[in-house]
Amino acid sequence: MELNWTEEEQRFRAELRGFLESVDLGKPPKDRSGRSQWGRRWMAALYDNGYAGPSYPKEYGGMELSFREQLIYQEELARARVPAPPGNGVPMAGPTIIKYGTPEQRERFIRPMLRADEIWAQGFSEPGAGSDLPSLRTTARRDGDHYVVNGQKVWNTQADLCDWAFVLVRTGEPGTRQDGISYLLIDLSSPGVDIRRLRDITGGTAFCEMFFDDVRVPVANRVGEENEGWRIARTTLGHERSSGALKQAAFYRRKVDEILDLARSIGASKDPVVRQRLADADMRVRVMQISAMRMIQSIIENGEPGPISSVSRLSNSLFEQQLHELALDLLGREGLYDSREALEGGRWVYGYLRTRGSTIGAGTAEIQRNTIAEQVLQLPYDPAMPAR
Ligand SMILES: Cc1cc2nc3c(=O)[nH]c(=O)nc-3n(C[C@H](O)[C@H](O)[C@H](O)COP(=O)(O)OP(=O)(O)OC[C@H]3O[C@@H](n4cnc5c(N)ncnc54)[C@H](O)[C@@H]3O)c2cc1C
Repeated sequence: MELNWTEEEQRFRAELRGFLESVDLGKPPKDRSGRSQWGRRWMAALYDNGYAGPSYPKEYGGMELSFREQLIYQEELARARVPAPPGNGVPMAGPTIIKYGTPEQRERFIRPMLRADEIWAQGFSEPGAGSDLPSLRTTARRDGDHYVVNGQKVWNTQADLCDWAFVLVRTGEPGTRQDGISYLLIDLSSPGVDIRRLRDITGGTAFCEMFFDDVRVPVANRVGEENEGWRIARTTLGHERSSGALKQAAFYRRKVDEILDLARSIGASKDPVVRQRLADADMRVRVMQISAMRMIQSIIENGEPGPISSVSRLSNSLFEQQLHELALDLLGREGLYDSREALEGGRWVYGYLRTRGSTIGAGTAEIQRNTIAEQVLQLPYDPAMPAR
């Protein structure tokens, strides 16, 4: 984004760029596990040099940057192709623990999370409890200074590569819905945890199921009060919907530029319909940047993004899908092969398949529209949903 950067901001950009150019961790490995290890090494390099957690408090090893500096930070990381922090800890669990955790929990978990010594999975969804999350059935029964957890979670991104999970459990009676939910931090190496991989539409195994069979979790690992986990989960969900919005905007700026180059290289940029679609993509990526900045401002002012995060999540997820559709239309039949030898390495068709899930993950597009209607526009509540 073209802003008038101050001298100090320009100096920050130059220093960060210099540092990123000095890090040589090679190309991303092809396999998931190697890629995750490579992501961990990147995070350790950033953390050890004071460049991890741009929005995190300095007290916990973060950088506490202003939102203009965060914009620079994300632009430079996208430029240097630095991977996102592995797992869902940094974007989701971390801000929640900082807001609602005990001092001991912040001390114990935040720094290893930022350095990716410990990476985190999200354990919210269950078979039968996705959009209607308050109907979840995984139970946690109190036994002295432990909970005993039983149940099943599903669609847990990269859980097989994670060390910890932040998990919603039912501590109230069955049927207590959002009034009987607690928020637990579970060590995935505990006895009784079984993680199984699921194959997705891309052919990969990015998702897992997590089974808990009499898993003992210290009460000290509960975030917030017993049965008050729903309020805390909403903070996590707000961060999930806003997380990486700035990074995503910088990433898609690069992608739109690549599609512009692609259209020019195959002569499609002269086609008036293609030109309109390219102009639309360019406009949308600018809107993406502006709404990401609006959300960062809200996080700085209110400590969380709030329901406005649904606006950004909805428009970003639709944009991701449209952009990959445009790329496939440009490439034609050849673009449909998904292999390293195929045109453009098969990356656009892979992205096309991967982004089918964008309007499902972090709440479906329909749920985001309901949230915008009810909580941003103050329209009446969805009569199909149970009373809140
Ligand atoms: C890429 C991706 C990553 C994910 N990562 C994780 C993760 O790490 N951890 C985790 O716990 N979960 C994860 N999920 C799961 C995700 O949160 C759920 O898939 C999502 O909440 C939808 O739930 P569901 O699949 O049960 O679908 P359902 O809730 O059964 O929805 C089915 C359909 O009904 C519609 N619908 C439901 N209720 C309403 C309503 N009130 N109004 C209008 N339409 C409605 C939905 O929009 C959808 O089209 C991930 C999913 C994806 C795709």
